Amino acid sequence: MSETFTAVVADKTDGKPTVGFKKLTLADLPDHEVLVDVAYSTLNYKDGLALTGKSPIARKLPMVCGIDLAGTVAESRSPYWQPGDKVIVNGFGLSETQWGGYSQRQRLKPEWLVRLPPAFSLEQAMAIGTAGYTAMLCVMALENYGVKPSEREVLVTGAAGGVGSVAVALLAKLGYPVVAATGRPEAQAYLADLGAKGFIGRAELAEKGGPLQKERWAAAVDSVGSQILANVLAQIAYGGAVAACGLAGGMDLPATVFPFILRNVALLGVDSVMAPKAKREAAWARLARDLPIAKLAAMSEVQPLSKVMELAPKIIAGQIRGRVVIDVNA
Ligand code: NDP
Repeated sequence: MSETFTAVVADKTDGKPTVGFKKLTLADLPDHEVLVDVAYSTLNYKDGLALTGKSPIARKLPMVCGIDLAGTVAESRSPYWQPGDKVIVNGFGLSETQWGGYSQRQRLKPEWLVRLPPAFSLEQAMAIGTAGYTAMLCVMALENYGVKPSEREVLVTGAAGGVGSVAVALLAKLGYPVVAATGRPEAQAYLADLGAKGFIGRAELAEKGGPLQKERWAAAVDSVGSQILANVLAQIAYGGAVAACGLAGGMDLPATVFPFILRNVALLGVDSVMAPKAKREAAWARLARDLPIAKLAAMSEVQPLSKVMELAPKIIAGQIRGRVVIDVNA
């Protein structure tokens, strides 16, 4: 009998969407060139949406969930990868159009793989995961726009979440005075430890505000969207920018064009899923340089795959602090 292994699979039974643990064999996996023994995946907001069914993530069924994975190449038909290579995959449609990381083994296209930076273990790479790598892309977007550390503060919204925690730690390490916007006052000590110098309550930013407000922030990283992003745009100082990557507060944007046309403010969109390989590698190299490992340890915990269904509603409810690494072999 062929070897079986565990995966979390989204499917349909009697016309109804289902998500659950399934035993797979190698013959079930896609016929991609590189077979990876997966060590860890993670729990991101998008994984929460997929597992709870709150928003349709899988665009074909059956679908192995998990937008991230880190592991070791077991077999390769690609000249670029050899057995024993340690690799990471973030996005590229995993859990949407391609089978993902909540599986003890997975076959992947060679071009999706990024070599594990020597600075990180597989577990640390997944403590960063898509959320952390996206936070790095946001910081790089601000830098590319010309934002530099100054006396004026930089705002991070959804600060106690995955993207937010890594963004706070990165910006603080790079010398920016960081203000953390959070709906969890009890997370302030945690955020101060990551490097936040000040705090603002989520509620203060969530109320409808004027189209142009007092200039408060040099720049911002926003993973929340909706009214909060509209207010943040209205509070950015002349010539500043917002890197926007998320919708934890909603997908709408009830804003005006005033910040753009009267204050020269830029709204920089950030997508991690289809980011080109060179940008990914640059982001991972920057994470290796700029993310303090001790802060990474403080913001992450490891949980077994067997618990992932219980954790999913919590990330959607905004109850997960920092990052959750998923040990797919536990
Ligand atoms: P998390 O759940 O870890 O963090 C989101 C944080 O947002 C929460 O911790 C909470 O922070 C805040 N929040 C939650 N609900 C609300 C709400 N209703 N209103 C305002 N704030 C809220 O998720 P991730 O960090 O993994 O992802 C954050 C967002 O970024 C998601 O929308 C995700 O889809 C998106 N994303 C996009 C990527 C891309 O490629 N563009 C890649 C990765 C993520 P606090 O308690 O501090 O207020």
